[in-house]
Amino acid sequence: MNPRYSKKSTPQPRRSWRAAASSRRYPWSDTEKAMNLKYLAAAALCACSALANAQVLVKNATLLTLAEGQDEPFSGYLLADADGAIVAVGPGSYSGELDYATSVVDASGMLVVPGFVSAHNHLWQTAFRGLAIDEELWPWLKALHWTYGDFFADGDFYWFTLHGAMDQLAHGITTTYSHSQRLGGSEAQYLESLAAEAGFSQHFVFSYNGNVNQPEQDYRSDFAAFMALSRDYMAQPGASMLAPAMHSVALHGNLPMLKVEMDVAAEYGLGAQFHYLEQYSRREQDRAEWPDLMAAGAVRKGNSFAHFIHTTDEILDDTAAGGAGMSWNPLSNGRLASGLADIPGYLERGIPVGMGVDGAASADIGDPFENMRMGMYALRMQHRDAGIMSPLQVMKLHTMGSAELIGVADKVGSLEPGKRADFLVLDPDSPATGALFYPAAHIVATMSADNIDAVYVDGKLRVKNGEILEQDMDLVQQEVEKRVADIVARQQAAQ
Ligand SMILES: [Zn+2]
Repeated sequence: MNPRYSKKSTPQPRRSWRAAASSRRYPWSDTEKAMNLKYLAAAALCACSALANAQVLVKNATLLTLAEGQDEPFSGYLLADADGAIVAVGPGSYSGELDYATSVVDASGMLVVPGFVSAHNHLWQTAFRGLAIDEELWPWLKALHWTYGDFFADGDFYWFTLHGAMDQLAHGITTTYSHSQRLGGSEAQYLESLAAEAGFSQHFVFSYNGNVNQPEQDYRSDFAAFMALSRDYMAQPGASMLAPAMHSVALHGNLPMLKVEMDVAAEYGLGAQFHYLEQYSRREQDRAEWPDLMAAGAVRKGNSFAHFIHTTDEILDDTAAGGAGMSWNPLSNGRLASGLADIPGYLERGIPVGMGVDGAASADIGDPFENMRMGMYALRMQHRDAGIMSPLQVMKLHTMGSAELIGVADKVGSLEPGKRADFLVLDPDSPATGALFYPAAHIVATMSADNIDAVYVDGKLRVKNGEILEQDMDLVQQEVEKRVADIVARQQAAQ
């Protein structure tokens, strides 16, 4: 795939569009006209069956669906059913009848886009922002994980993870890949992370960090229990858990267990994700581990590497041949001075790329707008080429690219019939972001989480004007701060 953006002539402000703010119709391009025929046909097909149980109709929106082949925005509507699935999305007005209970949202003047998907995250870390700000990865780990990780008490993982999930949702991340970490917690304490996410609306894939410092039999037994628990959570009505996955940790320090991890992942049909090639000064040690990954069968389709910055041609050739992918986490990579992955080069080789905000103690705000801007601008700085990556391309990496990487592209990542009705309503006028030339460029170059008017998950309004509706963020924040203070006190008392 050629990642380069086909440069267009300098655009002129679409005055007629801005002036007609009441409808804010987008002037149709030929591509859009062709697409519209397809969408109109799809809408006509599903309208009849959708009437009785429609949940929400969003109308008069400028939609950027990011569905395959649908790169241009259009003025139209989105209809979701009572189960939270999209049943119709198309241009113009919805012409079918609606049930009396259907919520109708007039999105005039708003942009409606898929919720962001973050492909690499440690949700508990929102409790510990701003630590070791001048350190790279290992000293930063020492200041956080290896200082406080042994002092977590019952309930800490629950509250910290809930806090992180709420924070991400308020920033427009509707699906997260929870690359969970057990630190020094017991199995029961650690699994509070899963309970916290299962009790909250943000969609998630739970990447299980098994304890590899125990006999293989016990590891397998814990994993079986986790899978049973996952099946229970996923069977609940309106489940927010989309899939289980594996956080592979054996590579760095417990090689015999790496093969076991890969065997277990294969037995359950799970994708595994690895932290790999992150810190620059450790690149040679990391590269030396590549043969171990290859020998364990880790470089395969469905598996992915987080960061994956300091690669070599051999590593990239093997990765492309094996079908493994990577999560690009520019905010975290900038904060920890890790470096910049060669994303255009990876895409040219056909390596799947998603984007993640990583843990909020290394990012330190889980904000996909900042993440996209940081990543796109860093590539432009390095290449001194303003066409190296387009706003639309970076948006796709943070939605469909991530969804494909973590194996949930059939459920989220774009606005298409059959997928979950997870979307953001963005208000370009609050705060004011100026004349709107191209929506994707506008979103990436000018907008922030402050422009999120509303966040919907499963067709339900979850965040309005920054306020999370299903939980009291102030109370959760207070609980988290109290618990962090207790952890610090326990750590200091132990010195
Ligand atoms: Zn990470």
